[in-house]
Amino acid sequence: LRGVVALDGPSGTGKTTVARKLAGRLSAGYLDTGAMYRVVTLAVLRAGIDPADAPAVAAQARATDFTLGTDPSAPSVHLAGEDVAGEIRTAEVNHAVSPVSAVPQVRELLVARQRAIIAEVLADVGGIVVEGRDIGTVVVPDAPLKVYLTADPAVRAARRSAQDTAAGRQSTPAEALASVDRRDRLDSTRAASPLKAADDAVHLDTSELSVDQVLVALSELAGR
Ligand code: C5P
Repeated sequence: LRGVVALDGPSGTGKTTVARKLAGRLSAGYLDTGAMYRVVTLAVLRAGIDPADAPAVAAQARATDFTLGTDPSAPSVHLAGEDVAGEIRTAEVNHAVSPVSAVPQVRELLVARQRAIIAEVLADVGGIVVEGRDIGTVVVPDAPLKVYLTADPAVRAARRSAQDTAAGRQSTPAEALASVDRRDRLDSTRAASPLKAADDAVHLDTSELSVDQVLVALSELAGR
């Protein structure tokens, strides 16, 4: 792959699974921008800062020392050298990540970091699959391929609940639906880069598709 594939959409659409597999298949790098908002959120929570306190959140974001790996077979997240790949996916972080990511200074900072990582990976391996909410609209508006994934709310909740169970946390589909719905509502209605598809994005509804079927569709779109 040459260039950037921008993969956006709400949670539970299978974005992370297919983004990693697609990057592997295309011998490209992989960037999970949600993990960046999550690691800053974890730092905010650990510092005892109220996620609604925007100036304190912005200051904490600037002070947060984190790194993200871009190998699709082993994406890593470190906070001040500590592996926090599991901890950024807890219910506490799920709950606090939308208000943290609604702070404009946090977005500015992370978008700049994202662009720097993307430039580095492009120089290194030539291609990268980037997943998030605003990749096609804000981070890389000139990406040659933009895909916006969607899925029925019930399907998204079932997938999230299965992920939670696999990660050792119990959640019923109803609880997962409430949590996913709440985050989508907050992500879609915030002033700074609300969740929405780019005008030139290809829409793909994954409700009735297996991971492999989504991969085939994306590989075709990427010209492979
Ligand atoms: O993709 P994931 O569910 O890990 O993202 C966690 C949260 O991070 C989202 O609910 C959203 O609030 C925020 N996010 C964002 N912009 C991105 C990626 C994630 O605001 N590009």
